[in-house]
Amino acid sequence: MSSNNRILLCLAHMSGQEMKYIQEAFDTNWVVPLGPNVNAFEKDLEALCGQGKHVVALSSGTAAIHLALVNLGIGRGDEVICQSMTFSASANPIVYQDGTPVFVDSERDTWNMDPNLLEDAIKDRIAKTGRKPKAIIPVYLYGMPAKIDDIMEIARRYEIPVVEDSAEGFGSRYRGQLCGTFGDFGIMSFNGNKMITTSGGGALICPDEATKKKTMFYATQSREPLPYYLHKEIGYNYRMSNICAGIGRGQMTILDEHLAHHRHLCDRYVELLEGVEGITVHTNADELSDSNYWLNTILVEPSKSGVDYDAIRQHLDACNIESRPLWKPMHTQPVFKDAPAYVNGVSEELFSKGLCLPSGPWVSDADVERVAQEIIACYTK
Ligand SMILES: *Cc1c(COP(=O)(O)O)cnc(C)c1O
Repeated sequence: MSSNNRILLCLAHMSGQEMKYIQEAFDTNWVVPLGPNVNAFEKDLEALCGQGKHVVALSSGTAAIHLALVNLGIGRGDEVICQSMTFSASANPIVYQDGTPVFVDSERDTWNMDPNLLEDAIKDRIAKTGRKPKAIIPVYLYGMPAKIDDIMEIARRYEIPVVEDSAEGFGSRYRGQLCGTFGDFGIMSFNGNKMITTSGGGALICPDEATKKKTMFYATQSREPLPYYLHKEIGYNYRMSNICAGIGRGQMTILDEHLAHHRHLCDRYVELLEGVEGITVHTNADELSDSNYWLNTILVEPSKSGVDYDAIRQHLDACNIESRPLWKPMHTQPVFKDAPAYVNGVSEELFSKGLCLPSGPWVSDADVERVAQEIIACYTK
C-alpha cells in the first residue's frame, strides 16, 4: 500500500475459509437463520469459552444483552447497573425492557467499572428504593479486562446477577479465563469492526443447557413446541443466519493470528510513543490481565503549547489516518439524562483526553510507525 492510503481504525479481515462454509450453506440450501454452520460456530465458541458454558449465536451483540435481561426477568421499573464508560448498546436493552439504567463510573487502571463505586451504588439504591438492582453490566472497554474478580465478589455477596458485556473483549483473558465467562451471562459481538466478524452478529454465553434452550426459544419468537403456532411469551427474531455463521466459522480459524497482531501493535505503539511527554498508551493493569487490544488507545495530557487529543486527531485526519475519541460516558448522554449515576470524574476525564488509534489486522508495522511519527510531529510543528 502506498503511504497515502488512509489508515483506518479497525477493518474486517477474512481468513479465506469463509467462502467454503458459505458455499456449503448454499449447496445444501441452508440459507435460513439456523443450520449446520450455526451449530458448528456455537461449538467453536463453546470450546473457546470452556467453563462448561453454552453459547447461542444471535443477530447482534445488542440482541444478546437484550436476551440476557429477558432471561433474568428484567421488567418495568427494575434497576440495572451499567458501566457508564461504554457504547450505548450496553445500556439500550435495559430501556427496551422498561427498566432503569443506573450508571457507575470507571477506575483508572482498566477504565472499566469501579468495584468500590459499584458497591456504593448498590447500597445507595437499596437505601433509596428499598429494592436491589436486578443485574450488573460491566464492560471490557477496548478489550481491557475489568476487575472482574472484585466485581463478581460484590455481585455474589448481594446476590445480583452479572451480564458481562464482552463485545469488545472477545479473546481477552483474566487469570487465564476468557472474559465473558465469569458472570451469569456474557455477550459477544461479531459486528464488522470487532475482533472477528460475521458481517453482523453476536452471541450469548449461557450458564447451562436449559438457559441456552430458553434463549433459543426467545430468539425464535417464543414459539411453543406444537404443530400450530402457540405463544405464551413475547418473542424476538434474533437468531443468527446460517450464512453469517459460515463467516464466523472461517473467522475462528484466524482468531489467534488476529489476537497476536492486535497485541503486537500495542507493543509497537508502546515502544514508539515511549518518552513522548504527556502521552500514555493504555496497557494491561497487571499480570493477571491479558487484553486483546481490540483498539489501542492513548491518553493525551494537554501540553502548554496547546496539543491535546483533538489537535492530534485533527492532525492525523489531515495525514489520512483515522483516530477517534473514546466513548462519551452514558451519564453525560442526553438520552440518559434522567438515569441515576454514581460518578467519580474518571470517565469524563478519559473522554476529555483519550484517543483510539488504528489497530486492526490491516494495520502494518509501517502504518504504526507512520501514526506514531505524525503524533510526535504534533509537538514539533
Ligand atoms: C459493539 C458493542 C456492542 C453491541 O454489539 P452489536 O453486535 O454491534 O450489537 C455492545 N457493547 C459494546 C461495548 C460494544 O462495543
